[in-house]
Amino acid sequence: MPEPRKISRYTVTSALPYANGPKHIGHLAGAYIPADVYVRFLRLLKKNVVFVCGSDEHGTAIPNQALKEGTTPRKIIDKYHALMRDCLCQLGISFDVYHRTSEPLHHQTSQEFFLDLHGKKLLTEETSEQYFDTQANQFLADRYIVGTCPRCGHPNAYGDQCEKCGSTLSPNELINPRSTLSGTPPVLKPTKHWYLPLQKYEEWLKEWILKGHADDWKPNVYGQCKSWIDAGLQSRAMTRDLDWGIKVPLPNTEGKVLYVWFDAPIGYVSATRALFEDLSSGKRAWSTPQSDFGKVGKDDWKKYWQAEDTSLVHFIGKDNIVFHCIIFPIMLHASGTYILPDNVPANEFLNLEGDKMSTSRGWSIEMHDYLKDFPGKEDVLRYTLLTILPEAKDSEFTWKDYQSKNNNELVAIFGNFVNRALVLTQKHFGNKLPKRGTLTAVDKALIAEVNAFPARIAAAIEAYKFREATALLLDLARAGNKYLAETEPWKVAASDLPRVGTILNLALQVSANLAVLCEPFLPFTAEKLRGMLALKKLLWADTGAVDLLAAGHVLGTASLLFEKIDDAVIAAQIKKLMDTKTTDSSRKPVAPLKPEVTIDDFSKLDIRVGKVTKAERMEKSNKLLKLTVDSGLDTRTILSGIAQYYTPEEMVGKSVVFIANLAPRKMMGLESHGMVLTASDGEGNLKLLQPGGAVEPGGVIS
Ligand SMILES: [Zn+2]
Repeated sequence: MPEPRKISRYTVTSALPYANGPKHIGHLAGAYIPADVYVRFLRLLKKNVVFVCGSDEHGTAIPNQALKEGTTPRKIIDKYHALMRDCLCQLGISFDVYHRTSEPLHHQTSQEFFLDLHGKKLLTEETSEQYFDTQANQFLADRYIVGTCPRCGHPNAYGDQCEKCGSTLSPNELINPRSTLSGTPPVLKPTKHWYLPLQKYEEWLKEWILKGHADDWKPNVYGQCKSWIDAGLQSRAMTRDLDWGIKVPLPNTEGKVLYVWFDAPIGYVSATRALFEDLSSGKRAWSTPQSDFGKVGKDDWKKYWQAEDTSLVHFIGKDNIVFHCIIFPIMLHASGTYILPDNVPANEFLNLEGDKMSTSRGWSIEMHDYLKDFPGKEDVLRYTLLTILPEAKDSEFTWKDYQSKNNNELVAIFGNFVNRALVLTQKHFGNKLPKRGTLTAVDKALIAEVNAFPARIAAAIEAYKFREATALLLDLARAGNKYLAETEPWKVAASDLPRVGTILNLALQVSANLAVLCEPFLPFTAEKLRGMLALKKLLWADTGAVDLLAAGHVLGTASLLFEKIDDAVIAAQIKKLMDTKTTDSSRKPVAPLKPEVTIDDFSKLDIRVGKVTKAERMEKSNKLLKLTVDSGLDTRTILSGIAQYYTPEEMVGKSVVFIANLAPRKMMGLESHGMVLTASDGEGNLKLLQPGGAVEPGGVIS
């Protein structure tokens, strides 16, 4: 084993959210909360760390969204940049800088990066034929071209993808292509672009990732990289024909901009640069630094990106793996001056109530909606998401689970433990920390747990196992809760007050440990708890001991750390979500509503439960089954058009719901005495209606 590298500082990035709309809680679980836990933990270790993020404001989807909202790209990015920044900050994501890629400093940094690679002859120039709209007088991005899908015949497939069959397409595969800008057929026209020849770096990638990171990168990340590398890499254009973005800094390149995935990751670099410009000049344009950087110079950002003793970690979602593990590292490596990421702990996706999350379909929980609906409950969301992070595979958020995690874990375990310790101390010791007497076996066992937890939680965080770390944190609160249940200070108080003092002293030391250890996960709770304990800010190294509070220390005011969430609140959220389904355009159309009837009309129908005692096929009919039904009143024959959906064998013994007073009708020469009720699934298939529990024949439906 080689000596572990000396690390003097950390650069931690969270994926730049794309400024074309609000962001949902799946993004939080993917790239923001895990990164925030990691960074807050490093700060508690007194490590030198910069936490970098910002809005990604280029690419074709921004002008697309502007078209949709009938406004300008600038207005779109201004609106969503502010919304995303504010939501993330309110949820306690403790960036040192939140920049934006539309800033001149970012344009400058990206152009310098491009010119550096260009100057070193690391980019290749290639001319290709691309679709051009002669009316709009511009080249068309893939999304601006629609046509018939060559695979499934869908008439409105996009130039990059058919949304009907899911095929990945290129624009020249489309049948009868047309421009979405003018509606006219585009023409092919030659255009020149600058390409990064990814294939030249294959051997280097094999060495760096496949050999170098086989053990320390997450299997989902490593696996995706391996399949990309194994499939063989190709040159990728680093420029586009578009009027929204960073101008290509070369002569005669009017109408060309840098590819959004070229400039976006450089956004991490320019954000760091903006932070250090702020810090060195005393301005506060972009930074509200949470870390203490001390006195710094304007160029100190370089240490965070170019010094070998800096550890760079990118937190992202799985859809960005190729850009952060292959393309951006090739750019960094090719430059010769930048360091490479040590790790890219990408998460999989978070689903919602059994379906994929989607802002456009309304099947999502947007950050700003959560903050509005649940003020003061930022940590409840952080906690719930931390317990279900999609670290190894996709996972699911449900409102019931959210409620249960709040009520049964945060309230019943964490909050209850702290509250009992504080309230009893107030009652018996005038809110002053009592001193400890002789320790019993159960006291010593608790102290041993307190000693062990910080290292266990730290090891989980360092391995990017945030779910495990969160579970361990709650286990410490659970150990405290169990200790109080076993020692029962509320009973002992009548006979042995000094013993109660020992118990409460230990319980409050555990609470003080929790106040420090929970800070990376639940920063708002940590602050609240510190206030109740009148505890100053401590470091991770202070934990594990039971002397965080001195005997005689005057505590603060106790209040509830967490509050129960009622069923009605959860039901309202579920309803809000389900309501989006009824307006969901991807659903099949339903039959229109019939004219209104009165309750008297309805009560004329005699609908009952019956039991099928015999069933046969009808000659000359492939639709009808002849059913013999025990109706409770009589045994009767009912003909039912369900032969294509049920066999006679499976019908025998089934309970059915039927109209008992329907006038007899003759079908195929036989008389039917009633009608069995079915539901159509929308595809025209019939499903029997049946009672939800056992009902004897003759049971009346009302
Ligand atoms: Zn298709």
